[in-house]
Amino acid sequence: MISIKDVIKTYASRNGDVKAVDKVNLEIEEGEIFGVIGYSGAGKSTLIRMLNGLEIPTEGTINVAGREVSRIKGAELRRARQEISMIFQHFNLLWSRTVAENIAFPLEIAGVAKQEREKKVNELISLVGLDGRGDAYPSQLSGGQKQRVGIARALANNPKVLLCDEATSALDPQTTDSILDLLVDINRRLGLTIVLITHEMHVIRKICHRVAVMEGGKIVESGPVLNVFKNP
Ligand code: ADP
Ligand code: ADP
Repeated sequence: MISIKDVIKTYASRNGDVKAVDKVNLEIEEGEIFGVIGYSGAGKSTLIRMLNGLEIPTEGTINVAGREVSRIKGAELRRARQEISMIFQHFNLLWSRTVAENIAFPLEIAGVAKQEREKKVNELISLVGLDGRGDAYPSQLSGGQKQRVGIARALANNPKVLLCDEATSALDPQTTDSILDLLVDINRRLGLTIVLITHEMHVIRKICHRVAVMEGGKIVESGPVLNVFKNP
């Protein structure tokens, strides 16, 4: 589903170039929940942002769901982002729009007709456990509920891959667990491939099948979670 080959990402800075991602190779299978863990500055965010074209690799190639995302632009990139969607630490909701309107937004952009849009929005609201909250505004929701809206919006166009950028880092432990349960449920029910980045071991242990450990832009270890993080 995802193939990352010899990828390097360099940022220019005043003190010379920074290699945020340094020769990374990774294969992620369809239907997998794959985690990338590492300290702040390890390169996780840069890596995941290259999977849907938010950053372009300096060198190397990335294939996601049959597309070479490291090369595409314009309309093709917009189509790719419907298949490779993303959720964020701070949810990135539209604050002047209701829950239902936030979830409908990607459907509007994709040109889905009103009636079909409303049906889909209602299905998504149920899927993420927000029945009855469609007319609420984001400011009226808890953090966990906001992330549920983010997840519903990300699923609107039936993506093949869901990218999670520190999706539970702004949430308390109990809410984190309920969001992680929802991600597992979605992975099982929809067969969706999930890639997440986190600095929290708990997130990896709770839901990931395989993990890669990043340090200084490189993957220093990877494999099934139980092999990489053996209990002491
Ligand atoms: P992580 O997500 O693991 O915290 P990042 O991918 O955000 O790591 O950052 C990796 C490195 O790249 C850090 O040294 C960071 O300062 C640098 N970096 C990230 N984004 C930029 C940017 N837009 N411009 C310059 N340097 C950046
Ligand atoms: P629109 O005008 O398209 O309905 P908004 O102006 O409400 O959208 O929001 C545009 C962007 O600004 C959104 O991505 C949202 O995340 C951000 N934003 C708007 N209001 C706030 C706020 N009070 N706090 C944080 N982010 C906000």
